[in-house]
Amino acid sequence: MQRFFGAILALLILVSCKEKKELVQQLEPKGTVQKPIVKHFGFNLEDYQVVYDTIKKGETFGELMLKNKVDYPKIIKIAEEYKDTFDIRRIDRKPYVLLKSKDTAEAAQVFIYQNDKINYTVFDFRDSTANAYKGKRNVKSVEREVAGIIENNLSETLDNLGVDYNVTIDLSEIYAWTIDFFRLEKGDKFKLIYDERFINDSVYAGRGPIKAALFEHKGTPIYAFPYVTDSLKNILDYYDQDANNLRSTFLRAPIKFGYRLSSRYNLKRRIAYYGYKVRPHKGTDYAAPIGTPIIATADGTVTESTRRGGNGKYVKIRHNGTYSTQYLHMKKQKVKRGEFVRQGDVIGWVGMTGNTGGPHVCYRFWKNGRQVDPLREKLPSAEPIADSLKTDFLAHIKPLKSQLDCIELIIPEPELQPEEDQLTLNP
Ligand SMILES: [Zn+2]
Repeated sequence: MQRFFGAILALLILVSCKEKKELVQQLEPKGTVQKPIVKHFGFNLEDYQVVYDTIKKGETFGELMLKNKVDYPKIIKIAEEYKDTFDIRRIDRKPYVLLKSKDTAEAAQVFIYQNDKINYTVFDFRDSTANAYKGKRNVKSVEREVAGIIENNLSETLDNLGVDYNVTIDLSEIYAWTIDFFRLEKGDKFKLIYDERFINDSVYAGRGPIKAALFEHKGTPIYAFPYVTDSLKNILDYYDQDANNLRSTFLRAPIKFGYRLSSRYNLKRRIAYYGYKVRPHKGTDYAAPIGTPIIATADGTVTESTRRGGNGKYVKIRHNGTYSTQYLHMKKQKVKRGEFVRQGDVIGWVGMTGNTGGPHVCYRFWKNGRQVDPLREKLPSAEPIADSLKTDFLAHIKPLKSQLDCIELIIPEPELQPEEDQLTLNP
């Protein structure tokens, strides 16, 4: 019976994925074959001699217009009457289109200055009185789904998929506090949904924000969904599937509750045992009964899980290029070197191994290879999602999550090197 329901469920998922796929395919841009553009910026190009060029260094609007036989009064008129539309003194080295008359005079009829990829300004000199106006090119957003497996690094993998480098930056910023992108594992997987913008259905004009993402690091899937928690302040953050802020800061302590802060970070600490000599304490001690679970204060990868001298049994976790944390005097470790842990995961238990007068965990906080006081460190703050918004958030991400789950991940087949190639490479 259970198996029967399982099969039904699998079928349902399959069907819902298929339906979505057809919909997505409809949205994809059709082909790359371009019709010859006859109309451009609203002008029929066949009626003119068309010049495509770029404003040169030091070139002024007036000079350029005079050179192209525009009457001086018309230039003056543009400069004065259209100050608010276009400040001719602020002409940049941008591309322009010049439409000249087809007769022997070759006088400029229309000058189109391209402010950026999308906006342009038209100067029309055809009438006896010149005029100017602004225009916008037709920009369409096309949703794109991407999935890949890391071979060497993220940017290379995304580049091979033809994804804008800015998307790579966006993605690494979203996961900066969760995944150490400098230590990605071969075989890590990702999926993402974002918009690509196109002018006139063909010219790429940049990417939109990431709408949803999934990153599977060492087998742990972490989703990311943008969500505005404060519409007044317009605070947008990315949250995972359980509404945890991905920009999560460090937990205040490596023990959930029932501890006592027994010794703070202190570089001038003097200890009677050592004859009141300065014995700097570069850790923060949390006293707790033997066997109390010790938790990772942030997501990261275990770089050390060993027993050494005064440290006793300890675990060290690398969180990103800047921060690492270390947990000493454990009774026993629960994690191995190389393992990926998430914030709050139990990594070991309080003990008395190494140099210690009583059961505690000595918590050490590393910043750029130096030990600092975590209680004084200004760490990035992350607002948790309010309980009142959690239901809305979960409903909001439901379709996005299933869309992500439906993206097919094609595992590339290993490339076979043709023998001829090897022969020519080794003469
Ligand atoms: Zn200590």
